[in-house]
Amino acid sequence: MTKENLTPMMKQYLSIKEEYKDSILFFRLGDFYEMFFEDAIIASKELEIALTKRSTGANSKSPMCGIPYHVANTYISKLISKGYKVAICDQLEDPALAKGIVKRDVTKVVTPGTLADFDYLKQDENNYLLSMIVKSHMVYLSYTDYSTGELYTTSKAYFEIDEAIDFIADELYRINPPEILINEISNDKINNFLNLSNFYINRIKEEELENIVFNSEEKSLINEIVFENIEKIEKENKLSDLSSIYILLKYLIKTQKHSLNHLNTIIYYERNKFLILDENSKKNLELVKGLNTNTKSGSLLEILDKTKTSMGSRELKKWVEAPLNNKDEIEYRLNLIEEFNSNLILLDDITNILKDIYDIERLSVKISNKNINPKEIVSLKNSLYEINNIKTLLENSNNNLFKELSSSINPLVEIQKEIDSIIVEDPPVTTDDSRFIKIGFSEELDELFEASEKGKNWLLNLENSEKEKTGIKNLKIKYNKILGFFIEVTKANLSMVPDNYIRKQTLVGSERYFTMELKEMESKILGSKDEAFKLQLTIFNKLKDFLVDNIFNIQKTAKNIAKIDSIISLAQVSRNNNYTRPNINDSGIIDIKNGRHPIVEAKFTGELFVPNNTFLNNSDEMIHIITGPNMAGKSTYMRQVALITIMMHIGCFVPADSANISIIDRIFTRIGASDNLAKGESTFMVEMKEVSNIVSNATKNSLLILDEVGRGTSTYDGLSIAWAIVEYIAKNIKAKTLFATHYHELVILSEKFDNIKNLTIEVEKTEDSIIFLRKIIEGFTNNSYGIEVAKLAGINDEIIRRASQILSVVENKENSNFKEKINDNSLVDIQQKSIFDVKKDEYINKVANININSISPIDALNLLNELVKESRDI
Ligand code: ADP
Repeated sequence: MTKENLTPMMKQYLSIKEEYKDSILFFRLGDFYEMFFEDAIIASKELEIALTKRSTGANSKSPMCGIPYHVANTYISKLISKGYKVAICDQLEDPALAKGIVKRDVTKVVTPGTLADFDYLKQDENNYLLSMIVKSHMVYLSYTDYSTGELYTTSKAYFEIDEAIDFIADELYRINPPEILINEISNDKINNFLNLSNFYINRIKEEELENIVFNSEEKSLINEIVFENIEKIEKENKLSDLSSIYILLKYLIKTQKHSLNHLNTIIYYERNKFLILDENSKKNLELVKGLNTNTKSGSLLEILDKTKTSMGSRELKKWVEAPLNNKDEIEYRLNLIEEFNSNLILLDDITNILKDIYDIERLSVKISNKNINPKEIVSLKNSLYEINNIKTLLENSNNNLFKELSSSINPLVEIQKEIDSIIVEDPPVTTDDSRFIKIGFSEELDELFEASEKGKNWLLNLENSEKEKTGIKNLKIKYNKILGFFIEVTKANLSMVPDNYIRKQTLVGSERYFTMELKEMESKILGSKDEAFKLQLTIFNKLKDFLVDNIFNIQKTAKNIAKIDSIISLAQVSRNNNYTRPNINDSGIIDIKNGRHPIVEAKFTGELFVPNNTFLNNSDEMIHIITGPNMAGKSTYMRQVALITIMMHIGCFVPADSANISIIDRIFTRIGASDNLAKGESTFMVEMKEVSNIVSNATKNSLLILDEVGRGTSTYDGLSIAWAIVEYIAKNIKAKTLFATHYHELVILSEKFDNIKNLTIEVEKTEDSIIFLRKIIEGFTNNSYGIEVAKLAGINDEIIRRASQILSVVENKENSNFKEKINDNSLVDIQQKSIFDVKKDEYINKVANININSISPIDALNLLNELVKESRDI
């Protein structure tokens, strides 16, 4: 295909496509968005739409597919969810008026990390675009939610590349951005990590980063406050490289092609100001996603999130993913929860009001893009009105904490008033169909609408008087866009048409006419209607400008409401689930009385969850080695301690009778076996990597939850590794640790180390089974009751019997080596005896089933012969 042969339109297509090579180009043609060439092949497959061909020039055809423009959103979101970007190319002029080829250009690129449309977004989750620059022993990381205007940035120095990867992994999995911008890094380890993760990555070329400047057009699209804030952050945090923020802004401008008015505040955060949770712990403790569901269902967040607004939902998710480690901040949240719980009427009143508050945080992008519609503006007004009610309730509460909270809420009364004076209560979504500006706001507008209204009455009168004058009973005055106003007379009445009617159009059954009088009125009516709509739009645009000027305040109010909604949710949950306020200590103690697992207990209906105590400190109760049968509740118990500790750091009440918990710097967990097959690692390899991470990063202020470390390898390997790890923690790290194991040999360590103690979970042994009591007590067990549990699980009797036989032989030879054990004669004997048993059973069965009465003498003799032979084999 040579370019010369192409039609002019295809030339236009290709020159636009050239600039958006990494996107699927939606090319507007009439009422369709068309895709061509490679894009068409991909899109037809992914969207399951027909692939056709279109002539693209002399003797050439190209693959093509298309979708109607008015359903484009559905298809775009489908492509985005499958990991594509979509560049939308629109017609920039009215095709009817265009001379030659219609002007077209890309008006927006939809990418996974820059979504802003309510249609595409999950309400209760942020949608982040993240950028990262790794160079000269520094990682610079920034991320923004374009739909809300939030922008965060941080940096981290590192010596070893592994440190950088740990930091990057933790942040990426916490933030979970659907799209990432990153510089071209030469380090293979980082690149491997990024390639194996499933993030959507855009590489930014070195030359693009070298000298990032914004030209004047770009500058005009960025809110000035952003540059002031960047400068402030640069100074206050001695940030030497700002390119991670700049490339975010550049990318947003390039894709959105719109001013970024709602991006204003930049928050510099430091990771060590939060309780650090790595990806594994977040996953295993099911903080925001259930392990089985991979959705919110079954997670701690699901339990805690009773927020009433989407803004609150998103805020609370942030709280759960990044719990605090500052005592005062935690106490502040706890104080509020406590006060709300002693003011239940207020709590319920505010809860009810919150239900009526719209997602005004995400309106900010629409305000910025000026595509907010009248209905949404009224939702904003109504929400502010409700927010005002919350403010008043708090103000009138006679409680200093609530009064302080009240003063932090700005219900933006001026904005309420402005909207209220301009827009009617129940306006339409579109701006060009009907009137939505209140009567009385603009005299001029009222007059124009009145004139067009009057015109309508005049027409009605004219219709009646013409009917009378002409005697044509079914004469009608009608309107359409092409003819304007006309008088319609059916064929049967044509003889009665007077002379002053001028013919306009002939139809099959009727004729259409106009008169000079009608023509004159038409221009008056249509003129005033046109002008009325023009003026209405001008007024509306002014209101939109006013909102743009106030965008920052609207966002601030939204953020405050999100926080209040989150606190109210925690208060409601604490009350409904019987949680108590935890104490915070700085003496390294974790003392929980009758603690419960918040997620497991919620699943228990009828059956009661058995609560348990926990006492850990920095001296004699530092490490607990927990032995006990399978299924006794060891994992549940350990997770419960971690979750209660995390809940305290979130600033939430906890499921326990009482809890006194010290501030922890990090929680590490090594729970559950999961192959990371995508990374080509076996269960054991994954386990050892996790342990390695724990051992090198844990401090004496950390909490370690280790469940069956060493399980993925042979018994003696596993035991040795587990043993050495416990010793290392006891001697060197000195972190509070819960260590569940089936290596009962480890209980000996409590005699060697003052800081190690043994715990076990009580079971009651009956004759051939066990009953789980779920109570954790001091002591240990030297029996895993694996066979009993296997029996409870329904494994058949033959296997259970055989397993018991083998176990008794192996246990009796405890001190011999493995080879001796399996070569043991009695083990082989049992095996042979077992085969013998089976044959004997079959033999007896055969004899018992002989029917003496029906067998002939000759058959009886043959059978007897057979039986004698068989008996010799047994
Ligand atoms: P283990 O780790 O000892 O094998 P789990 O912690 O997985 O045992 O617990 C097994 C099951 O026992 C859990 O799924 C839960 O249903 C139940 N369970 C655990 N702890 C309790 C408890 N404290 N009260 C009631 N049921 C419990």
